[in-house]
Amino acid sequence: MNRYITTTLPYVNGDPHLGFALEIVQADVLARAWRARGDQVFFNTGSDEHGQKIAEKAEQNGEDVQAYVDRYAAEFKKLKDTLNLSNDSFVRTTDQSHIEAAQEIWRRCDQAGNIYEKSYTGMYCVGCEAFKTERELDESGHCLLHSTLELQELSEKNYFFALSKYQDRLKEYLSQPGVIVPEWRREEALAFVEHGLEDFSISRESARLSWGVPVPGDDSQVMYVWFDALPSYISVLGFPEDVAGNFNTFWGNGATLQMAGKDQVRFQSIMWQAMLMSAQIKNTDAVFYHGFINSGGQRMSKSTGNVISPYELVAKYGIDATRYMLLRHVHPVDDSDVTWERLDEWYTANLVNGLGNLVARIMKLAEDNLDAPIEMSAQEPDEAFQHKLDAFAFDEAMDYVFEMIAECDAVMTDRAPFKKVKGEDESIRAEGKQDIALLASHLAKIAAHLAVAMPTTSETILRAVQENKKPENLFPRLA
Ligand SMILES: [Zn+2]
Repeated sequence: MNRYITTTLPYVNGDPHLGFALEIVQADVLARAWRARGDQVFFNTGSDEHGQKIAEKAEQNGEDVQAYVDRYAAEFKKLKDTLNLSNDSFVRTTDQSHIEAAQEIWRRCDQAGNIYEKSYTGMYCVGCEAFKTERELDESGHCLLHSTLELQELSEKNYFFALSKYQDRLKEYLSQPGVIVPEWRREEALAFVEHGLEDFSISRESARLSWGVPVPGDDSQVMYVWFDALPSYISVLGFPEDVAGNFNTFWGNGATLQMAGKDQVRFQSIMWQAMLMSAQIKNTDAVFYHGFINSGGQRMSKSTGNVISPYELVAKYGIDATRYMLLRHVHPVDDSDVTWERLDEWYTANLVNGLGNLVARIMKLAEDNLDAPIEMSAQEPDEAFQHKLDAFAFDEAMDYVFEMIAECDAVMTDRAPFKKVKGEDESIRAEGKQDIALLASHLAKIAAHLAVAMPTTSETILRAVQENKKPENLFPRLA
């Protein structure tokens, strides 16, 4: 089976945050699980680099915009090593091939009669890069999402996309179970579409904002940043020329999955899907929406001072422990709360005293008492575990492995091979060795189940069993 998976492209006006680390680790686990099953997988991520917010941020820094986006794109690219990700590509919306693909989507939508010009006067929020209606403002006339920004009254000629024409087709699309996960979010999206859709502006005057993709055939306008960014999911595959055939293989003839945050439904499942319909390209098969990560009951923000960055997490606990905590202790779709106290607790209880300690004890016994490594055959994860991953129940999949770890711990306690191997009686000592061999084979099984979530830990455990040697400390105690 051919499978395509992509994260959203983070907007490069700040450092990578934990919510995006969650999204990309979830995607990585699925990509690894599919590859292990023999699927052909294309796993994409990248960075969204146009728009007024970025132009302004660069200006504030006194930096050239291109230099600014280059610096941030590098910051996001670094996540690959930081989190041990297996992505196949990293698309930047400033890549020439992407710019051409976005322009081709524009042309197709235009030829289909879905783009028209309209003069417009309204209150514009730079934070949202959008005009705001009365309903979207607070009592003091500020944007609900950006209460510190002053709105600008703008009058300009823009191009609009005829989203309203797609109401029926979007309803049909969103009526298919599975196009949005979780299911209740699909129902919300369907209700939103049934409520009525408004056409939206898809360009800005380049006199006001030049940092964008030029509108084909009209130099006075650049594309609205979303209209430019969404086609990145297919530009990276080689759309439209498709010289390498990836677009046909992975989008045309593959199962497609997009990962996104819960605030993205209107963009990913409505706007983008209508654009695909208009350009006569297959719709996305499924979009999975994860929840937000808060800290201490509040949204993470610089002003609150409660930001926990993925880099800090990896520096303190290591890569696999960070992946573990994102997968098991952050809910896949609901909002979760994470604090340093809780992270320390999870790390110490489940990894240092749990998995790490168990592996050390068993492999020390094996090294001291077994004459040779145990016989091992290649192991595949249980179906029950695979089903949990297929259902995006990353936390339950991890619980499944940690139940295996708990069982192994119980076998250790019940059979007490550490006592038996010191016994007077030869047959008791032999029984102790058998227990140790059994425990080592349990470890190999646990390692096979950890391969997609904690790849390095999994390899270390497997190698230890293969070599019959206690490994280096997997999870050092916190200082
Ligand atoms: Zn706003």
